[in-house]
Amino acid sequence: MRILLLGPPGGGKGTQSKLLVEKLNIPQISTGDILREHVKKQTDLGKKASNFMEKGELVPDKLILQMMGKRLLENDCLKGYILDGFPRTIPQAIGLDDLLIDLNQKLNKVIVLEVRDNDIVERMGGRRVHLASGRVYHIKFNPPKIEGMDDITKEKLVIRKDDQKDTVLKRLDIYHSTTKPLIDFYSKRNIVSNIDGSKDINAINENIIRNLTNV
Ligand code: ADP
Ligand code: ADP
Repeated sequence: MRILLLGPPGGGKGTQSKLLVEKLNIPQISTGDILREHVKKQTDLGKKASNFMEKGELVPDKLILQMMGKRLLENDCLKGYILDGFPRTIPQAIGLDDLLIDLNQKLNKVIVLEVRDNDIVERMGGRRVHLASGRVYHIKFNPPKIEGMDDITKEKLVIRKDDQKDTVLKRLDIYHSTTKPLIDFYSKRNIVSNIDGSKDINAINENIIRNLTNV
């Protein structure tokens, strides 16, 4: 099954993706996680992307599409995948269509997580991440077992640089102007399910699974 999770920054895409990975046994492909890995390793792509990411702007479509073109060719994608944070623009969605044609694949479902802007600001203020794995926590809503530490590796959790309030507000603007039009784009194919992303994490997960059962 090939699923796309769409929603605002901080909407719960990463959190839900991790739960779906366990249930469906298909990989999560998070463009944000892949880009952060490139920035850490200071690859050519990482050097080009870091400025945009720190400012809360989108990395240019061409770079993202090149990166995803490679990722979707990897073997673990043969059984399906969860796209988390890609596509984020109409040109990226068109580019993804082209990639899928080459791969003889189709997107089965687009899950839209709906969360109000005010809730997003609160969520981002408390987000803590384990960068190496992409596991996400929240100091109040989804705390780690031991404060400040990843549950599995016990390594330190960090605050993402782009989670400061000003940058979050900018990312939200970009979501509304540039990413939200994708909902219409995919609605025409009748593969979109809107999910109330303001519920608690497990309730949302159950809703998503319910929406996937007749795919
Ligand atoms: P969030 O989970 O808060 O939405 P991500 O981890 O998905 O954030 O993305 C972090 C940053 O990485 C984005 O603000 C953007 O700079 C860059 N990025 C991630 N995915 C894309 C994409 N598909 N297109 C352009 N930029 C992206
Ligand atoms: P995204 O990948 O869309 O940017 P995340 O999964 O990283 O979103 O979630 C953003 C923050 O909100 C994290 O701190 C996460 O623990 C928290 N969070 C995720 N889902 C919920 C929820 N349903 N209710 C409250 N907080 C949540």
